[in-house]
Parts: sequence; C-alpha cells; structure tokens
Amino acid sequence: MANSRFQYVRSFELADNLLPSTYLVVRVDGKGFHRFADAHGFAKPNDKTALDLMDRAAKRVMEEVPDVVVGFGESDEYSKIVTLIVSCFTSAYVFYWTQYMPKDRILQYPPIFDGRIVQYPSEKEVKDYFKWRAVDTHINNLYNTTFWALVLQGGQTTTQANETLSGTVSGDKNEILFSQFGINYSSLPEQFRRGSTVVRKEVLPENTINQSPMPEQSENDSSELVTPHAEDPRKASNPLFGHKQKKKPRPVVPFDGTNGEIVVLHVDMVKDDFWNERPWLLR
Ligand code: ATP
Ligand code: ATP
Ligand code: MG
Ligand code: MG
Ligand code: MG
Repeated sequence: MANSRFQYVRSFELADNLLPSTYLVVRVDGKGFHRFADAHGFAKPNDKTALDLMDRAAKRVMEEVPDVVVGFGESDEYSKIVTLIVSCFTSAYVFYWTQYMPKDRILQYPPIFDGRIVQYPSEKEVKDYFKWRAVDTHINNLYNTTFWALVLQGGQTTTQANETLSGTVSGDKNEILFSQFGINYSSLPEQFRRGSTVVRKEVLPENTINQSPMPEQSENDSSELVTPHAEDPRKASNPLFGHKQKKKPRPVVPFDGTNGEIVVLHVDMVKDDFWNERPWLLR
C-alpha cells in the first residue's frame, strides 16, 4: 500500500515488546461465564462436559503453538505460556462445542474470553504461579461443592447456603460434606479437585510401546499418573528392561517439550513433583 496522507496512523502502532529471558504466562478467562454457565444449563458445581471442552480448546492451542509448553485450567479459565492464544482458544471452544455438549444444549450467543500476559523472571515465580492457580482450584471447588450440596441436596436457598458457609474453614466444609451428605471430598474426580494440566509427552517408537513395562496413560484417565520414566525412549535400548530388539528401533526425534503427544493430566500442581519429573519445561 503506497504512502498516503493517512499513512501516519501507522506510527501509533507502538512496539509492545516483552522482556527477553522471562517466562511468559497468558491467562485466558471466560467473560461473564457465570451468566454463560446459567444460559447453557451447566451442571453445578462442576459441569464435566464444559471442563472437557475447555481442556480440548487448550489442547488445540498447544497443537497450534509449539512454544506453549504447559497449560493449566480450572472453571472457565486457562493459563498458558506464550501468545496467539486467546483467539485460538475461543474459536476452538466454539468449534468443538457440538462435539462435547449434549445435543439439546445449543450455543445461545458467542462466548468471549479475555487474556492477559504476565512475565516472570525465574523458575520460582513460574512454579508459584501454577501453585497459586492450583490452590485457587482447591479452595473454590471445596466451597462450590459444599455450597451446591447444601442447595441441591440440603434444600437450602443460595442465601442460606452462603450463611452456613460464612466463616468456615476447609475442615468444616469437609465435615459438612461427609456428615450431612455422605460425600468424601477426596474421592471426587481429580479433574474437579485439581484442575487440568496440559503437557506434551514423548512418543515412543511402535516396537517399544507394545512392550512398555508400565501401562500407557490414556488421555481420559483421571488417575494420578505421571510416570515420565515409562515414557523415556532411552529405556528402549536399556537391556535391563528386557526389550527384544528384533527390528532396529525407528530413530526418535529428541523430545524437547515442544513435540510429542499432547495430554491432559489432573495432578497436584502444588507439589514440585510435576516440575521435577519434567525438567525440560523450565529449561
Ligand atoms: P468475569 O467476566 O469477570 O471473568 P465470570 O462470570 O466469568 O466473570 P469468573 O470468576 O471467571 O466469573 O467465574 C466463572 C464462573 O463460570 C463460575 O463461577 C461458574 O459459575 C461458571 N462456570 C465456569 N465453568 C463451569 C463449569 N464447568 N461448570 C459449572 N459452572 C461453571
Ligand atoms: P499474517 O498471519 O502475518 O497476518 P496473512 O496470511 O494473514 O499473514 P495478511 O497480510 O494479514 O496475511 O493478509 C491476509 C490475506 O488473506 C490476504 O492477502 C488474502 O490473501 C487473504 N484473504 C483474507 N480475506 C480474504 C477474502 N475475504 N477473500 C480472499 N482472500 C482473503
Ligand atoms: Mg474472572
Ligand atoms: Mg470469567
Ligand atoms: Mg474465571
């Protein structure tokens, strides 16, 4: 486009560079999802199909943007490292809607997500960031689970349930759940209690997958998994693991956290194990 007298507006496009050598976290959060959840009849306190759809949209972002190495989601929000993300997330959410929702749950209006980027200078803040979101997941889910048990099973109004819970600590809520409703909080699905963590894992050459000494973690398995050593292709050539190598193993692309299969886990992000087992994430 040739220069015109209108060209000057271009100079308003100021550089918004990010600091080098920092970890980038983009948090995506549904706008007005309290209303959106109501308008679409989301089950309370946790609509599993809606969480699964969020997980799918997060996976889509990681399919599109290899630089994103880890994602964490709860409720209507998702935190990720690096950009292009909000738009990809939003369109994937709409794109996969019918695949996840019951047939009669028709999308009523276009959902919107906001996004913000934060820069953290060191590993400590990145780990603490995910710990912060994980603790938030726990606190909110314990509150919401107790709140909706009081309303849906205990017959309280939402105002009464708020009053019942005002000033209570975690122990009190666990006790209400157990003694009044027979709910053992720690037996609720890990997806609800811990949120979702999205990472890539190494893909083994075929002839080692079949003889893998540990069971493969399936994408929808919500059990506490994290067996990264079972995914280590170096084991393929380790005689201690007893693999008969009739065929030469296919050359494995070295795993660096940006290739491999994208999986959704429900693990305890407050512990350092997640990071210790995946040293490539914060390299
Ligand atoms: P804002 O625009 O400021 O983010 P919001 O209405 O989206 O406002 P949030 O604090 O982001 O408020 O909370 C999201 C709300 O969306 C939750 O409180 C809950 O009511 C609802 N929600 C999101 N996901 C689910 C789900 N899977 N099941 C049930 N309810 C959900
Ligand atoms: P980038 O990701 O850098 O923005 P881009 O491929 O989107 O790359 P743009 O400079 O944004 O490149 O240009 C958009 C291109 O998309 C146009 O050059 C044209 O080829 C195509 N395009 C967009 N809208 C239409 C349309 N309605 N009809 C035909 N072509 C279109
Ligand atoms: Mg919010
Ligand atoms: Mg929101
Ligand atoms: Mg939110």
